Parts: sequence; C-alpha cells; structure tokens
Amino acid sequence: MKFVSTRGGVDPVSFQEAVSTGLAPDGGLFVPQELPDLSKEIATWEGLSYPALCERFFAKFATDTDAEELRETIENAYGSFDDPAIAPLRRLGDGLSVLELFHGPTLAFKDFALQWLGELYEKQIARSGKSIAVLGATSGDTGAAAIHGLLGKEGVSIFILYPDGRVSPLQERQMTCTGASNVYPLAIQGSFDDAQKSLKEVFGDQEFRAECGLSAVNSINLARILAQCAYYLFASLQIPAERRNRVRFVVPTGNFGNVLAGWLAHKMGMPAAGFVVATNQNDILHRFFSTGKYEVGSVRPSLAPSMDIQVASNFERFLYYQAGGDSVAVSRWMQDFSANGKVELPAPEGWGFASTATEDDHIETIIREVYEQYGYIVDPHTACGFTWERDPEEETILLSTAHPAKFPDTIEKATGKHVTHPSLEALKSHRIQKFPIEGTAENIQAFMRDHLPS
Ligand SMILES: *Cc1c(COP(=O)(O)O)cnc(C)c1O
Repeated sequence: MKFVSTRGGVDPVSFQEAVSTGLAPDGGLFVPQELPDLSKEIATWEGLSYPALCERFFAKFATDTDAEELRETIENAYGSFDDPAIAPLRRLGDGLSVLELFHGPTLAFKDFALQWLGELYEKQIARSGKSIAVLGATSGDTGAAAIHGLLGKEGVSIFILYPDGRVSPLQERQMTCTGASNVYPLAIQGSFDDAQKSLKEVFGDQEFRAECGLSAVNSINLARILAQCAYYLFASLQIPAERRNRVRFVVPTGNFGNVLAGWLAHKMGMPAAGFVVATNQNDILHRFFSTGKYEVGSVRPSLAPSMDIQVASNFERFLYYQAGGDSVAVSRWMQDFSANGKVELPAPEGWGFASTATEDDHIETIIREVYEQYGYIVDPHTACGFTWERDPEEETILLSTAHPAKFPDTIEKATGKHVTHPSLEALKSHRIQKFPIEGTAENIQAFMRDHLPS
C-alpha cells in the first residue's frame, strides 16, 4: 500500500515514509492511494480485543512493516490504558451509547493516536540511529497527549510551546509534571499567536530542520487518522449485526480529525447510517454542513477549548475524496480558502454528514440534564453532542472525547459534583518543570540547541 498527497505533487510513498514526513512536501496531506474494501472482512473481526483488531486493520496500511513489530507497537501503545476494553461502549438508554475514548494516560481521545505514533517513532529511530526533535504548539490537549506519547523514548527530545497562564491548571500539570528528562514544556510569554508564527519560521529553516531532525506532531499525521479508525470499527462490532447499518456516530469536532476517521472507516466498508459533526460555538463546520458556506469566523473561546478552531486542517482529506481524488481542485480550494478565508465548495448534500452546534451558555445545562437523566457525567466537549436530535429508530453512538475530571469547575457548577481521577490527583504532588521563554524564532531555536543531546 502506498500513500499520495491530497495536492498531487509527490510520488507515492510507503507507510513508514508517510508517518515520518507528517505533512507532504507539497503542502498537502497523505492519504492511502486506494482505500481497501473491508466490507466482507470486518464482520469476522467481531469479538476481537482492541489490540487484536488494530493489528488486523493497521496491517492493511503498514504493508512495509514487519507483523511482529507492528504488534509490539500496538501492545505498547494501548497497554497503559486504564480500562480493559480500551474503548468501552457504555449504554445510557434505549438506542444511545457513549464510546469512552478517555482511558489513556492524558484522559482525552488524542492518546489513541499519539501513543501509537510515539511507538512508531521509537522503532524508526532504533532503525535509523538518528535522533529526532519534536516541536509543537498547543493550547490544550494535543501537547499533553504528544508529551505522553513520547515520554522517555530513546532518541527523542520533545519541545511543546504553550501560552503561559492560558491553559487550564490540570492541562499544564499534564505537560510539566512528567519528571521525564526528554520533555521541555516552553511557557510562552507574550502573544501565543506570535509564537505560532515563530514556530512556522523554525519549521521553514531547512538548515535547522536537518541539523536537529525536526519533526511535527499535529493532527495531520496519517498514523493519527488510521489509529482513530480502529475505535469506530470496534464500537460498530458491539452493536448486533442486523442493526449496524442503523448506527449514527455523533462526534464532537474541531479539526475534523476524529470524525474523518469514522467516515473513512465507513468508506472502507464499515456499516453506518451516517455521521454528525458536533461543534461548539466555533461552528465553521456546522455552517458548512447546514448551509454549504465554508467561511472562517473569529475564534470565540469556549468551555470546550479543544474545539476552539476555525480552520479544520483535516477537512482537506475529506474534500479530496469528495472531489474523486482530483488534487488540482483540492489545491485550488485550499489556496482560495487560505487567501480569502472562504471558498465555494460543492454542495454537501448526500455526503453522509449532518451537524449541530452548541452555544457556550448551553453547555452546563446539558451536563446537568444528562446527569439527571442518566446518572452519567460528560465533559464539556462531549456535551456538545447532545444537541443532536436523535432518531429513535437509530442506534446513536456518541464519542466521548475527554474525561470529565479534566474540567472539574464546569462539572461542579453544572452538577454540584466534584469529579476527580487518580492520575490527575497524583500530578498535584509532582514538581512543575517548565521553561518560560519569549516566543521568538531565535529564542526557540537557541533553547533547542542548548538542550538537544550533542
Ligand atoms: C482535540 C479534541 C477534540 C476535537 O478533535 P478533532 O480531531 O480536532 O475534531 C474534541 N474533544 C477533545 C477533548 C479534544 O482534545
């Protein structure tokens, strides 16, 4: 199996190359050259454990990777999850289930992808003997998940920029209390937007990139999308066979990464009735799916901060498939969008997506109502999925993207309950180690040079 860029400017590459490169050199995103047809095979995966299912599924793509090595990466990636099912499906009521994706080390769904990506990187480094430096910027969960995916890995140094004083205290602790010597959380003083610009400059400095083996961990890595397909398949297989094609997945969405994975699994043959894009008040995707207009607004900070996004980077992969693989059209759309902040796209009717958006002042009410009705506490991101009007004839699977204990203040206001989690409690006694710096490109590069192993 080979992988091509959505913008068509790159010769097909192998799985390992696509993973190590991240963003395709022509600015596009890697996608499988052809999607495998799994429609017959999937049903035979019923009853498999989560890791066993991943082995079958990932092997379709990682055809350049030894089966035993692949198995090891999976075992290691999901071995630290705190629920034996890895991705347990909880039934709340008639026709409504919640897929809990928060049993990994940072209690958010990004662990599914970043734990595996960390294992893949580790094997690549062992093979090549070249160490790498991972650099990223975060205003929330991605930084913590990336750090925990790479923590203590031989040959990796990880630098994560975050806005000092602007991430939640628990998120900061998840990044700064690891005690690992290869982790450098850089607390950026001053404007975080400027720091993100600096980050682009650092990545644009080819000499520096080569000098330290610079790599990015963001939601555009192909391995992240594939890792996420697996839990959709796993959830689907727990529904009785004759009802699987009545399942509608409701997915709290920011970057379109999570929901794209489900849709790809469906395209490969997983039965489903469709998908619901559930945004918070930053609703570019809801506006697109409900009106056909794709236009950025300004970001309005919300109680579900990991979805405070206006430009959904993974949307490009979806457009590629909708355009029938026409990379010329995709390049034109993406250029238009980046130049004008809006673009005319084909009408989204018949694409298998519905959508809902949740205003911030509604989130606490939803959390309270869900608690009263089902005795179950959801986090503010998951809450956004409840504004979808369910069809009682369907099976609804709502993806729960974070553990409520990550947002104790909102939960307490909504339900009067104080939720905790042992892993978050343990962090409170650990020492914070962070590096406050001014976020200019020169400062970031100087810091990295000083701290990379020579
Ligand atoms: C990242 C994140 C999301 C959004 O996921 P996308 O892949 O960007 O759609 C939703 N909820 C939580 C808790 C997250 O961390």
